[in-house]
Amino acid sequence: MKKCTVFAPATVANVGSGFDVLGFALCDVGDTVHVKKSSTPGLVIESIIGANNIPSDPVKNVCTVAAQALLDCLEEKQENGYSFIITKEVAAGSGLGSSASSSAAAVVALNELLGSPFSRHDLIPFAMKGEALASGAEHADNVAPSILGGFTLIQSYEPLRVVNLHYPEELVVTVVHPHVEVKTVDSKRILKQNISLKTAITQWANVGGLVAGLAQENFELIGHSLHDVVAEPTRSMLIPMYEQVKIISREMGGLGCSISGSGPSIFVLTDSMEKAKNIADSLESLYMNNFISCDVYLSKINKMGCQVIQ
Ligand code: ADP
Repeated sequence: MKKCTVFAPATVANVGSGFDVLGFALCDVGDTVHVKKSSTPGLVIESIIGANNIPSDPVKNVCTVAAQALLDCLEEKQENGYSFIITKEVAAGSGLGSSASSSAAAVVALNELLGSPFSRHDLIPFAMKGEALASGAEHADNVAPSILGGFTLIQSYEPLRVVNLHYPEELVVTVVHPHVEVKTVDSKRILKQNISLKTAITQWANVGGLVAGLAQENFELIGHSLHDVVAEPTRSMLIPMYEQVKIISREMGGLGCSISGSGPSIFVLTDSMEKAKNIADSLESLYMNNFISCDVYLSKINKMGCQVIQ
């Protein structure tokens, strides 16, 4: 095998009360990375399609940083090199795991080219090196669902323990990405560094309720448990029309809504495609009427994760 192309889905991380620990993969939207074996040693980014603000220097791009982490762990060192073509569909800074999609696709494609020396689970730490480059932290809440698919819980980092959660088949998500810039540094800086015991108790009751609601396919419990009392109160201030989005989605039968990643994208969970579609139309109108352009996605949860295309 001399080349391989992999699609890696965009992801919704945090998922309300599951701040920093939960995430799920979306269908149809994501990045595609094509990796080709070359006779010249080293890693090269041949082109980046669909974005003009992503660095093509291999030490600054998450694809090549994640790929290098994988190569460094091979027992047999490679004499040849690899070149990368990255097709970006997920805008960086959207809160939909843009850097994670690229890192995930790169390591899955490279692993495939090498004859799969690593399992999908083993690839997660390599993709996390890409996340460290993008955000300064080796977090897995986007890369794990992008690689593995489904709804995941990062239960621990040392050792890395990723739990694949059961969820109801009917779950549908509406995601709206208002085109406003929310700098990751700002959404990090705005977070409170300390929370009260009362707040902590509310949050862990909610995340427990959310995981149980998913497992029991109890939509009411899912809705009651999504509420995030840690990050949402401050981060939502950076997202225009956030309160209106909450009100509209509740009135239209959404189970609950919250910020995707660190924003500005917002997700709404529902139990039917019809409700999700109506919510999508209303949210699009809300932003349009306020002169803010947006992208809207409708999706079931993506079970497959990364997909080898060829
Ligand atoms: P997201 O949370 O959607 O991943 P971030 O803004 O947190 O978005 O991360 C994107 C950062 O990573 C940007 O600074 C971007 O320049 C950098 N980056 C490097 N390589 C890539 C890549 N292949 N795809 C996306 N972002 C990349």
